[in-house]
Amino acid sequence: QVLNDFLDLKGNIRVFCRIRPIRIGENFGRLRPVVASESSDVVLKIGDNKSKNYSFDKVFHPGSSQDEVFSEVEPVIKSVLDGYNACIFAYGQTGTGKTFSMEGTPDSPGVVPRAIEALFKQAVESNHTFLISFSMLEIYLGNLKDLLFTHPTKATDPLPPRLSIKTDQKGGIEIDNLVAIQVSDFNQALRLYRLGCRFRSTASTNSNATSSRSHCMIRISITCFDALERRRETNKIWLVDLGGSERVLKTKAWGRRLDEGKAINLSLSALGDVINALQRKRRHVPYRNSKLTQVLKDSLGEDSKTLMLVHISPKEEDLCETICSLNFATRVK
Ligand code: ADP
Ligand code: MG
Repeated sequence: QVLNDFLDLKGNIRVFCRIRPIRIGENFGRLRPVVASESSDVVLKIGDNKSKNYSFDKVFHPGSSQDEVFSEVEPVIKSVLDGYNACIFAYGQTGTGKTFSMEGTPDSPGVVPRAIEALFKQAVESNHTFLISFSMLEIYLGNLKDLLFTHPTKATDPLPPRLSIKTDQKGGIEIDNLVAIQVSDFNQALRLYRLGCRFRSTASTNSNATSSRSHCMIRISITCFDALERRRETNKIWLVDLGGSERVLKTKAWGRRLDEGKAINLSLSALGDVINALQRKRRHVPYRNSKLTQVLKDSLGEDSKTLMLVHISPKEEDLCETICSLNFATRVK
C-alpha cells in the first residue's frame, strides 16, 4: 500500500527532513530555533516572535528512530525491483547526521545496511532470479575514486585505473573501470561496504573532526532474469552520503580545505539545479555541470525515484546553515 501511494504520487521526487537530536551537555542556544510540528512541517523560529514554516513530504523529529526513517525509505528500495532506477541522498551541514542516517552505528544501522538487507529479502521472495552487484566510489575534488579497488601499498603496486563516465546508446550511464562485485548474500555486501568506508578521504574541519569533504556513493545493480533465464533488465539504486553543505567561508578553511569546500558547494548546487529542472519539467536538465550529476544522469529523471533526506541541526548557532539547507529543500521540492 505504501508502495502504491508512493508510485501514485504525481512526482517521483520526495523530500524528507530529519532534525538531529541535541547531545548530552549541548545547548539549543537562547532560542529553540527548530521545531517539528505535526508530521510534515518544520517551524523555524527566527526571532523572538517571528517564525517560518517549511513543509516536507515527511519530517523526522529528533526522537525518530532509524526504524521509523527506514519504513519511509523502503518503498524506494522496492521500486528498484519493480524496474526503476533510484537515488537516495543524505544532504546537510556537517554534523547534522548524514552519515548516521546512511551508515548508522553497529547498534543502530542506517539506510545502507537496511537497504541491502531489504533488497536481498525481496529478491529471494520474488519468483525471479536476480544478480546483484555492489560498487562504491567517492567524488573528491571533482575526481572519481573507486573505494573497492585494492589501493597500492608499495611503489610497484599498480595504480587504480582511471574511472570515466560513459553513456550507452540507450542513454544509460556506465563508469568504465569501476569495480562491481557480484554479491550473493547480505553479509557479503555488508563486508564490501565496510571495506569501502575505510577508504574514504576524511579530513578534519572546524565543524566536525571526522567530516568528509567528499560525496560517498554506493551503487547496487540488480539484473533480473525471467523464468527461461533470459536477461530482462538491469536497474540500480544509488545511496549517496553527500559532502557537508556548509558554506566554505564559515569553516575558516584555506588551501586544500578551501578547494574541497568549493568543489562540494559547486556540485551540490549542480544537484539542486538538476532536481529543480526535473521538478519543473524543464526541457533542458543541466546534468553536465558536475561529476555528481553526470554519474547519476540515468538514475535522476522521469523514470526514476529520488529521495532527498535533508538533515538539519536544532541549534541556534547553526541557524544560518539551517536556513540554507531548508532553502535548498524548497528548491528541490
Ligand atoms: P554528518 O555525517 O552529517 O557530518 P554525523 O552522522 O557524523 O553527521 O553525525 C554527527 C554526530 O551526531 C555523530 O556522533 C552521530 O552519531 C550523531 N547523530 C546524528 N544524528 C543522530 C541521531 N538522529 N540520533 C543519534 N545520534 C545522532
Ligand atoms: Mg558524515
